[in-house]
Amino acid sequence: MSSAAEVRGVALLGATGSIGETARRVLARHADRFRVVALTANGSRDALAAAAARLAPAMVGLVSPNGTPLPPGWRGGPECLVEAATHPDAAIVLNAVVGAAGLDATLAALRAGKRVALANKESLVMGGALVQRAAREGGGAVVPVDSEHSALLQCVSGRIATEGEGLLPLTGVRRVVITASGGPFRTWSSERIRGAQLADALAHPTWSMGRKITVDSASLANKALEVIEAHVLFGVPYDRIEVVVHPQSIVHSMVEFDDGSVLAQLGVPSMELPILYSLTYPDRLEDPGVPRFDPVASSPLTFESVRDAVFPTLGLGIAAGRRGGAAPAVFNAANEAAVARFLDGSLDFPGIPGAIGRALERLADHPANDLPALLAADAAARAHVKEYR
Ligand code: NAD
Ligand code: MG
Repeated sequence: MSSAAEVRGVALLGATGSIGETARRVLARHADRFRVVALTANGSRDALAAAAARLAPAMVGLVSPNGTPLPPGWRGGPECLVEAATHPDAAIVLNAVVGAAGLDATLAALRAGKRVALANKESLVMGGALVQRAAREGGGAVVPVDSEHSALLQCVSGRIATEGEGLLPLTGVRRVVITASGGPFRTWSSERIRGAQLADALAHPTWSMGRKITVDSASLANKALEVIEAHVLFGVPYDRIEVVVHPQSIVHSMVEFDDGSVLAQLGVPSMELPILYSLTYPDRLEDPGVPRFDPVASSPLTFESVRDAVFPTLGLGIAAGRRGGAAPAVFNAANEAAVARFLDGSLDFPGIPGAIGRALERLADHPANDLPALLAADAAARAHVKEYR
């Protein structure tokens, strides 16, 4: 970018979460390039108010005001997400909402022609076809924030076609390899995992993140969501997407080209860079806040196969992705509901794949032709998991 680059408006959705907080740090370091024009959060009113006081955005939205009066000028209720996502001053919408609740905002932003810097992978898994259509119709673009997909995007520079399958169609790519830390249960036996407690699942070895994605990383549901995310983003068929366990979380993913050459993107496990890159893509910006990589300090780098039988959630999710239709939305909603039950103590850890598997058996063929149908599939899956015993 030239030094006379314009200042671009950013709407930050999910501003109080793990990604939201890191994004605010990244944005604060680049106030000469980006201006925060809208902030939203779900229930964390004090954290939102503190962020709003510092950043003075044109719009502040609280999704769940819970009956209490809002500060002057704030918007309340779930509609504030779409309002922020379509704000006229925003060129970029950083969607860091957790879960299917982020879908409407992703669609609205794309229809309004915005760049969506997308952390909210659930919206892509739930509504892949709708997201693609919205981008086509509105001229918006999706740039991934997820570290694996940011890595893939950085590896395929110059290989993105103007037409083809996916939001960022690739040419000349034979295979993509998505790395997984393996989570806290990487070396545990199935029997030991059966007795896993909440604190065990929340003790992620390499990444510090929100609770839902941390549990997803323990079950490998997160990797299933990421395989579907890669398919929707890059149009790569499922039999050309591989998952490999890499406990150090230094290699963030790899791309194999037609001639057999493999490129990987490396860095310490930190979301500072993927967030920054989602804002500056395809350019790069100097940033002292992105931690430096030291190959010697990071060695050794090791790779191993996923133990599929020990982590059935991964296979369930990939099968749902291959099946298409409503199945990815059912997988996603069932997982969200199962994780909520695991977090409130009403479901044990093996109950997560148990409940998801049951929901998929019943609901995978649910209609999925439009948004109301997908929302109905999502609601049916959640209801199903609530009743799961
Ligand atoms: P988090 O739980 O820390 O934060 C979620 C944010 O969304 C909060 O600001 C919360 O107020 C808001 N929110 C929650 N429910 C909402 C709802 N129903 N409607 C509107 N807003 C709501 O989550 P996180 O770890 O920051 O993850 C956010 C997203 O980014 C997820 O989709 C996750 O999979 C993805 N992601 C996170 C990381 C990470 O390092 N944390 C890495 C890659 C991808
Ligand atoms: Mg990831």
